[in-house]
Amino acid sequence: MMTILTTCPICGKVNEVNVKFEDYLRWQGGDLIQDAFPYLSANDRELLLSGICPQCWDKMYGEDDDESEDSTDWEEYDYDFEFGFDPYAGCYTGEC
Ligand SMILES: [Zn+2]
Repeated sequence: MMTILTTCPICGKVNEVNVKFEDYLRWQGGDLIQDAFPYLSANDRELLLSGICPQCWDKMYGEDDDESEDSTDWEEYDYDFEFGFDPYAGCYTGEC
């Protein structure tokens, strides 16, 4: 295991995320974060992606209902977009 320290760009809080080193390498090698770290919570994955801590997410989006799985939907959607995934065609752009 390795500990990744992330600093929240909003509140400056330092957070720790524990991952397996080989998974970290997979992520750095281009694997989707949810594939590389299936055992991390959405909050932890967000810490790795942006450093924004769960407290600041709550402030930004005002979602105080308990951590439902819904909170991961937008994240995966957004992330796919970064890699050129076209949700309308259902495939990666250029591969259709
Ligand atoms: Zn924060």
